[in-house]
Amino acid sequence: MTRILHRQIHAPLRTATGGRGVELFDQEGRAYIDASGGAAVSCLGHGHPDVIAALHAQADRLAYAHTSFFTSEPAEALAERLVTDAPADLDYVYFVSGGSEAVEAALKMARQYFVEIGQPGRSRIVARRQSYHGNTLGALAAGGNEWRRAQFRPLLIETHHIDPCYAYRYQRPGESEAEYGLRAAQALEDKLLELGPETVMAFVAEPVVGATAGAVPAATGYLRRVREICDRYGVLLILDEVMCGMGRTGTLHACEQDGVAPDLMPVAKGLGGGYQPIGATFLSGRIYDAFANGSGLFQHGHTYICHPMACAAALAVQEVIARENLLDNVKAMGRHLRRRLTERFGNHPHVGDIRGRGLFMGVELVEDRGSKAPFAPALKLNGRVKREAMERGLAVYPAGGTIDGVHGDHVLLAPPFIIDAATVDTIVERLGEALDAAI
Ligand code: PLP
Repeated sequence: MTRILHRQIHAPLRTATGGRGVELFDQEGRAYIDASGGAAVSCLGHGHPDVIAALHAQADRLAYAHTSFFTSEPAEALAERLVTDAPADLDYVYFVSGGSEAVEAALKMARQYFVEIGQPGRSRIVARRQSYHGNTLGALAAGGNEWRRAQFRPLLIETHHIDPCYAYRYQRPGESEAEYGLRAAQALEDKLLELGPETVMAFVAEPVVGATAGAVPAATGYLRRVREICDRYGVLLILDEVMCGMGRTGTLHACEQDGVAPDLMPVAKGLGGGYQPIGATFLSGRIYDAFANGSGLFQHGHTYICHPMACAAALAVQEVIARENLLDNVKAMGRHLRRRLTERFGNHPHVGDIRGRGLFMGVELVEDRGSKAPFAPALKLNGRVKREAMERGLAVYPAGGTIDGVHGDHVLLAPPFIIDAATVDTIVERLGEALDAAI
């Protein structure tokens, strides 16, 4: 009997009692390969001695000091490190406790920016269908996952959703990927013109869509055109890298691969690698200056911003990633994972698409490859795949989304950056068995 309101009240959970490297262990001592890092969180795997040592040392020195009185050494050091490696102009960072808070902070920064610079008429948000930006009300409003939003709609601020950039579903026959990318981006300009661009403050998008669509990267040229459109109409670009950022795709930030820098960039999961709850919102010097030269404050703040323990853990995680050149392993193992997935599922009757970047891969499951028809929601295929995988010692994150209003099933793979080729092979083998058993 549990006294916790768990996510799924009627699905009993095993108790995780330990973790080492890429494996998690339950109360019966069974081992699971953490093939999705939870939900793309555990980038270093579990029990890394350097992170544990950094946490011990920080707990010994200082666990907490309120930010209206003090800053702290780990927070300052982490900020310095992050902005040094950030895309152009993202010169400042704001620390929070997770992804939703980081998105909320970005939305409020966008709004306050326009108030500070004398454009208070800009308050509208444009975002995309089939996106996920978090579960707090502002982030949920920006997200385009109807299943998550439906019952809370009366509480959500108005957001204007355009079609996602999702080549497998929306690229037309005969259209190149680059042509599709430009056509998908045009939806943004059309929406801005419809709303009146002077009323819009920000466009929000995930460079590689995670939780709702299963690692769908932007088509070639899409984000560049989006950046141009935002600049043309004075709209801020928020790229949500909460899931796809911090090295997951093989570069520190996913948007680097698209040659684009946003104005605001929330990150979270891989920042602290699960060792502590932490998120961050990067902001450009232009936005910082508007606050600094205007009201002199950011009208926001939670009790746990810049938490010293969280910052110390994230700093240690980021130092290990750099010192051990783990992004090289993300690239190499990402290629290996893609190759193995293609070998195993390339002709599978129920695998419609294999996509992603680096160690962030999605497998889309369809009833019929020819028509791309998804499985009936009543089958609850996601849950079945997850259960069958767990039975085989594999923890994978089933990402469910809505495709043209119909539920769709995907499996998201996001293993720790330390993974080796043999473990990748085992993941693909167990996933194959789990899919065959579930479908
Ligand atoms: N944004 C994206 C792209 C996400 O994938 C998520 C979580 O999955 C969030 C925001 C919300 O992050 P959190 O669950 O840490 O609040």
